[in-house]
Amino acid sequence: MSKSQYFPKKVYVEKRSLDFPLTKRILKNVGPVPREIIDDPQEVIEDIKASKDVMGAGKKYLLITRQRGEFVKPCPCTPRYLGCNYFIINIDLNCPLDCTYCILQHYLTNPLITVHVNREDLWRQLDILLHRKRHRTVRIGTGELGDSLALDHLTENSIDLVSYFRKKRNVIFELKTKTVNIKNILRIEPAPNVVVAWSLNSLRIAKEEEKGAPSVEERIEAARRVSERGFRTGFHFDPIIHHPDWEEGYEEVIKILLKTVDSARIAWISLGSFRFPASLKAIIEERFPKTKIIYDEFIKGKDGKLRYFKPFRLELYKKIVGFIREWGGKEIPLYFCMESEGIWREAMGWIPKGEENLEAYLSSPLG
Ligand code: SF4
Repeated sequence: MSKSQYFPKKVYVEKRSLDFPLTKRILKNVGPVPREIIDDPQEVIEDIKASKDVMGAGKKYLLITRQRGEFVKPCPCTPRYLGCNYFIINIDLNCPLDCTYCILQHYLTNPLITVHVNREDLWRQLDILLHRKRHRTVRIGTGELGDSLALDHLTENSIDLVSYFRKKRNVIFELKTKTVNIKNILRIEPAPNVVVAWSLNSLRIAKEEEKGAPSVEERIEAARRVSERGFRTGFHFDPIIHHPDWEEGYEEVIKILLKTVDSARIAWISLGSFRFPASLKAIIEERFPKTKIIYDEFIKGKDGKLRYFKPFRLELYKKIVGFIREWGGKEIPLYFCMESEGIWREAMGWIPKGEENLEAYLSSPLG
């Protein structure tokens, strides 16, 4: 995907998904792209799986189908690390961008970019979850198995989701993106419980390892526009990657961010260092032979993933927390994604006492 919007080479529509309003909307928005009605998505998936670069091939095609299982699941934050009590919505799967480190290369069994169009089932499942959790504030997002806005010009998901969530009192809804696909966001009325978030990295890592994504400066500029429109913003430095001049690299992006976006409207910044299942390494080697990020020193964590040694993770985090505090982000809530209590204590100076404590920290102020 270039900086321009994504359009697939072809759209496959499962026959039983043809009559859903969202299918009609996507087919209208996608314009004159070839389309084929299919009985069984599995046949197309198997065809793509015969390609040499399965993941690369899958990203060229859009599959419109139904979600047969659960739309909403708890985020698989590692049980042996401190999780962040987050729920993920699986409406779109996969993503037209192609980051070297993307976990989806290892995780997805269906390589096509897939949109699930049975919206009524989603609303029903969300109603049940939010009722069950009515005494707590739940954080929910769509950006775990894809990018929340990369397909937004086709699906207009952001409009539907913000309109659903703005009426719910016990939820903070997050859209998470690396794109600048904000046209729909700028058209809708902001809601205090909606956060539009960007994943950021050093300018060098973004350029070398986040193929197809807009530059960091462009992402921050999009965030400024969304913030000035009245939305709260969020930022994720994840994965933080060790590379030459990493300190200067991360300080530079934090400086640009905090000079550009109003920090009083930043709901949170999360930090997570590079980690990956050992089996992803072979996929990255095969698909991105020039990358160097997998040839560092790693240890296997309690969750079986490879990550940097604890003293180095601590050094990365302390520096980055320091840069955020120094450049004007003293009041911004910060949290770690999948880190131990020891890291929290040493890098942040406090440990959330369980999920509800972290929840309260990240939920305030709720406009
Ligand atoms: S933007 Fe996210 S989902 Fe898309 S390729 Fe990059 S890491 Fe994967």
